[in-house]
Amino acid sequence: DRPHRLHRKFTHLNDGDSAPSSPIRVMQWNILAQALGEGLDSFVQCPPEALSWSRRKYLILEEILTYRPHILCLQEVDHYYDTLQPVLAGLGYSSNFCPKPWSPCLDVEGNNGPDGCALFFDQSRYEFLDSVSIRLTAIRIPTNQVAVVTMLRCRSTGRCVCVAVTHLKARSGWEWLRSAQGSDLLRQLQTLVQKHVGAPSSDIPLLICGDFNAIPTEEVYRRFAASPLGLDSAYKKLSQDGLTEPEYTTWKIRPTGECCSTLDYIWYSQHTLRVDAVLDMPTEEQIGPNRLPSFSYPSDHLSLVCDFSFKEEE
Ligand code: NDP
Ligand code: CA
Repeated sequence: DRPHRLHRKFTHLNDGDSAPSSPIRVMQWNILAQALGEGLDSFVQCPPEALSWSRRKYLILEEILTYRPHILCLQEVDHYYDTLQPVLAGLGYSSNFCPKPWSPCLDVEGNNGPDGCALFFDQSRYEFLDSVSIRLTAIRIPTNQVAVVTMLRCRSTGRCVCVAVTHLKARSGWEWLRSAQGSDLLRQLQTLVQKHVGAPSSDIPLLICGDFNAIPTEEVYRRFAASPLGLDSAYKKLSQDGLTEPEYTTWKIRPTGECCSTLDYIWYSQHTLRVDAVLDMPTEEQIGPNRLPSFSYPSDHLSLVCDFSFKEEE
């Protein structure tokens, strides 16, 4: 018997406006590293069979192919070379991967290598300009967290977009480190976009996707919201007032209890990009009493999917 899938719908914004000429569909997703899910995470309510790679890989690919993002930002990728890169390359995606320097996956017996961040883009829509892998620092000291930053040019409009994917330090007590890592990423992005186009940084649209491991009241969130890069968090558009983050992007049960929180974000340049649609979050009933991961959904984090379009140039 086939497990049911979470059925999610897009909320369309800007009703009445003309349809965007060149939509950019972006997916942000912490897919759950195979080694961590089986080895270190202790999802006590999830049946072990639901955590096997042979099952999970199809659900991960199915989720990606359901939404067919043009830009795909993933965290906790520990099956890049043997699965995601080759399968997605066959579907027209080009990609870059950056492993964590000391991935906790390497502590798990039978691991498949380090986990890291991966950034995929649809080659038919975007021309590759440049990509850099960044090891995030805190007070100039290198940390165990990374980012991939890729510069692309939209083939139909000729416009450039700078995309970043990151996964900040997990767990409570490390709020200061996440804040320092976020500041480092913002600083490096500012330098990169200036170098690249030689124009004021505010002119190059930025998309920053990540598992920030930070709730919206944390310092790193406030730093992103207040940065001179003019960023806003796309998923706030799902709320009634347009100002509130969703209630959760991850929901799991560990021996220490239930964890339901908002940690994942898609940041975008609000002066150059417009959010046209946002994929809603499944309800508590859809997620089910044992929460995530499950036979229906392969990760403890939900995917975030948004459609953007370039605003008219002034
Ligand atoms: P993080 O604290 O950032 O967490 C790493 C992963 O653990 C994340 O993917 C996170 O998932 C997950 N995680 C978060 N909370 C829990 C939990 N309660 N139970 C299980 N998993 C959880 O790790 P670091 O990057 O700082 O790496 C720490 C590990 O790296 C060490 O345990 C060690 O194994 C290794 N290391 C080794 C070094 C060496 O010299 N050999 C040096 C440094 C690190 P999510 O983001 O989804 O919450
Ligand atoms: Ca995790």
